Amino acid sequence: MNFIHKTYRPETDVKNYHVHLYYDGGTKLHAANLRREIDRRFGKQVEFGRWRDLAPQGPHPVSHFQVTFPTELFEILVPFLALNRGGLHILLHPNTGNGYEDHTTNVMWIGPSIPLAEDWMQRNQKRMQEAAEEMVADN
Ligand code: ZN
Repeated sequence: MNFIHKTYRPETDVKNYHVHLYYDGGTKLHAANLRREIDRRFGKQVEFGRWRDLAPQGPHPVSHFQVTFPTELFEILVPFLALNRGGLHILLHPNTGNGYEDHTTNVMWIGPSIPLAEDWMQRNQKRMQEAAEEMVADN
């Protein structure tokens, strides 16, 4: 076997994480209850995005809200969401400053995945990059 030299990104490239909790008319109440419980348990460490009923929006194909959380909370919040997601599909991605990559090759899912709007992301790579750089600079 011929190994190739590859540059691996260190995990320290991750500044924080997002989870996007996807919901529809049938799961919005559960999403609201879960949001309240996340706030009760982790409210001091996380930052909530607003409810985004309108869909699709950006790369997100269905209604959602996002939660930003620090790397230290990963091992606590991720299992909590896995055990309590109910029927929700939850997109989990790191924020490394590369917005396109963070929403494509770097994504993880809690529950079954939903295809993101790849065509939108292709068209808006520059915009995603600027937003990602701003987000990392804010932290
Ligand atoms: Zn995100």
